[in-house]
Amino acid sequence: MHELSIAMSILDIVRDACAEEGCSRVEKVRVRIGKASGIMADSLLFSFDCARSGAAAGATLEIEEVPVGGHCRDCASDFTVEEKYVLECPLCGGPAFTIDSGHELEVVDLEVDD
Ligand SMILES: [Zn+2]
Repeated sequence: MHELSIAMSILDIVRDACAEEGCSRVEKVRVRIGKASGIMADSLLFSFDCARSGAAAGATLEIEEVPVGGHCRDCASDFTVEEKYVLECPLCGGPAFTIDSGHELEVVDLEVDD
């Protein structure tokens, strides 16, 4: 399962950050996940709850979903869409666009109790 390995990597990052800063308990882990990353937020939450241990044993995962967005060279506009993919510029229907966001997977912040 894809999300379980992602949960494990997030916990690795948390563990390293904790060791570095000498904190004993993590309250909350904030992550940003792009809609185009293919990661299911619900599955990730479930996997995180199953995999958490050590300093992160009582931590909750807070997921911020980042919409898919891009820039169109035809109409020179920035756009975001509700879908997980973009086939054409939602504003002018043109094909000359680049995708700038929606593939994120990053740990933004840790809330610790020390
Ligand atoms: Zn356009």
